[in-house]
Amino acid sequence: MDTILVANAGSSSVKFQIFGIEQDGSLKRQIKGQMDGVGSRPRLRVTAVDGSVLIDRTYESETVHDVTAALATAGAWLRDELKIDPIAIGHRVVHGGPDYDRPVLVDQTVLARLEKYTSLAPLHQPYNLAPIRSILARYPDLPQIACFDTAFHRGHGALADHYAIPDYLYTEGVRRYGFHGLSYEYIASILPQVAPQVASKRVIIAHLGSGASMCALSNGRSIESSMGFTALDGLPMGTRPGQIDPGVVLYLISEKGMPPADLPNFLYRECGLKGLSGISNDMRQLQESSDPRAAFAIEYFVYRASLFAGMLAAALQGVDALVFTAGVGENSVPVRSAIAEKLTWLGVSIDADANAKHARLISRPESRVAVYVLPTDEELMIAQHTCALLSKRPTSSSKHERVS
Ligand code: ADP
Repeated sequence: MDTILVANAGSSSVKFQIFGIEQDGSLKRQIKGQMDGVGSRPRLRVTAVDGSVLIDRTYESETVHDVTAALATAGAWLRDELKIDPIAIGHRVVHGGPDYDRPVLVDQTVLARLEKYTSLAPLHQPYNLAPIRSILARYPDLPQIACFDTAFHRGHGALADHYAIPDYLYTEGVRRYGFHGLSYEYIASILPQVAPQVASKRVIIAHLGSGASMCALSNGRSIESSMGFTALDGLPMGTRPGQIDPGVVLYLISEKGMPPADLPNFLYRECGLKGLSGISNDMRQLQESSDPRAAFAIEYFVYRASLFAGMLAAALQGVDALVFTAGVGENSVPVRSAIAEKLTWLGVSIDADANAKHARLISRPESRVAVYVLPTDEELMIAQHTCALLSKRPTSSSKHERVS
């Protein structure tokens, strides 16, 4: 069976999945894997769909010194041990810049363009692109498709896309991009099946995970996001503050003597639930803690989520449905319940039993806003995009032609 490799490369880890392409063109997940601790204590762990562990092995840090080596090591293991030789790779790439509003087949020209967006996402883009560059050099005929976190939001109107700053900065790319686009696109793609009565209406999706954001969907299209130029804005997250007055950053520099080079680590790794609670960035741990600081961090998260829901409701001029997704959104009964409570004024009313059971529809029949819990699947979205682009390529390869 032909397979697709989906890769998500970060600074110190690479996550990957293998999807088989069935005869009818549908995709079936086969394997999930991850190489963690790249450059320090590399560890490859791969599981089959039934959860059975296929490998759990550590490597010398010299062997897996960067993310390119990590993906190459995992790829060699897949090929040698499982005889899996993917016909294409779909990569998660954080930034498609102002231009890419959909996935793209990467060649040297595209790669050069994506490298220019590194300045827009310096902590993520280089790691996303490094394996693509290396694979392109070694296997130029292996199709690689870049799928962007920003693309789904590129249809935003000018008002949503701008900051109130001099226009030359907008022109050079300082825009409100929005992120988690692959998650929102996946949810938008399944709404017609799972919630047909609201799929073409006004929907707020709350992607609440370690990273968290919200998206306003109108007729299946994103019109506004809580995130902006970077994935720092909007809701508080595990280790990121979310919306913060830029004056705080100026204060850190001028009054606290924080070198600007230290700011990324502070803003990406030391704030959010972790900074606020002083206990953990992990929602589950905070829920289990009896420390009042943990309770305050959760309350803060809920409060800010409800404020952003209000903002997106204004952008949509009303709300017909609210969707919870990602780690916290899919699993935390108390967080869903507390956010819903704060949105009573919008017409949200959830059924406590349905919420406790993680039912797909958790709102009461009389709730003006339908409330859903829908698991996201960014990897499947990437695999689908990869197959779709393969089928459009001008190629004589029959393998690719039958993929719809
Ligand atoms: P990411 O993909 O951004 O790493 P996830 O979407 O996996 O993040 O979400 C991770 C978050 O979800 C963590 O804060 C984790 O504690 C939280 N989470 C997972 N399961 C539960 C649960 N049962 N109750 C509360 N929080 C949970």
